[in-house]
Amino acid sequence: MKVLNFGSLNYDYTYQVSHMVRPGETLASKNLQIHCGGKGLNQSIALARAGMKVYHAGMVGEDGGQLLDTCRQEGIDTDFVLACEGKSGHAVIQVTPKGENCILLYGGANRKNSVEHIDKVLASFDEGDILLLQNEINLVNELIDRASRKGMKIVLNPSPFEEELLGYRLDKVNTFLINETEGRQMSGGKTPEEILMRLHEKYPESEFVLTLGEKGVCLSFGKECLTVPAFCVEAVDTTAAGDTFTGFYLAGVLQGCGREEILRRACAASALAVMKKGAAASIPRMKDVELFLSER
Ligand code: ADP
Repeated sequence: MKVLNFGSLNYDYTYQVSHMVRPGETLASKNLQIHCGGKGLNQSIALARAGMKVYHAGMVGEDGGQLLDTCRQEGIDTDFVLACEGKSGHAVIQVTPKGENCILLYGGANRKNSVEHIDKVLASFDEGDILLLQNEINLVNELIDRASRKGMKIVLNPSPFEEELLGYRLDKVNTFLINETEGRQMSGGKTPEEILMRLHEKYPESEFVLTLGEKGVCLSFGKECLTVPAFCVEAVDTTAAGDTFTGFYLAGVLQGCGREEILRRACAASALAVMKKGAAASIPRMKDVELFLSER
């Protein structure tokens, strides 16, 4: 069983500013940090650090060299990443001394996937292989449709959520990985119980992994529900907690672990991620997760 992550590859430009730039103002920033990220790349990194062979597919621009190097350093297969004219996807992030941020996103190459590229990539995968998707690229609906027709298992992290997603072939999704905010937006429910009940009514064949931040996670399949608490740790930066969870959750599934063990390991991995600053930099390796669990 192979795992293909068709997702975004982004540069994050993080500027330290005294305050958010105002309309008409020119503001000098104090510091610039450039990191490779995007939900797609972060989830591929999490899968790779969890010990999995992962194929990443997507697009980068003419400036995509560092994104590809990062993938290769992590052991991620980049044969299905195409380079195109123009810029890679990127985010311009302002951070104030109080830690507030605002983010300007440019989809760039992430929005230039074509049906031809999708068909070419999917031709290398078979029934039973896993397709992991987020919502930072174009043609997500086409990917769901084509991959499900091949019999691939579809895992969707509908993030960032947009109303448009609700018009997609979500009935073809095998597993949804969602946080509480996305759960509310998708279902209109307020509590985790209400969210899961409504989502099950809408998509009775699917399984739902609802992450609840410091409260842990709830896995709902058929009429059953399994809840695992989060680990009690000192959180310094929750960026990429969900991406880490997704990577380690899928790794557990691929390694044939039991449901409770899968959730516990994914919670441990994401607890380690929130204890460290940064996005990709905070994603742990399997050996760190095993050590953390052995000490608990
Ligand atoms: P997202 O990052 O997508 O918003 P969540 O906030 O639900 O997702 O976090 C995903 C997982 O990360 C949770 O299920 C939990 O296991 C872990 N996590 C998040 N915040 C904390 C925290 N403060 N302490 C411990 N674990 C956390």
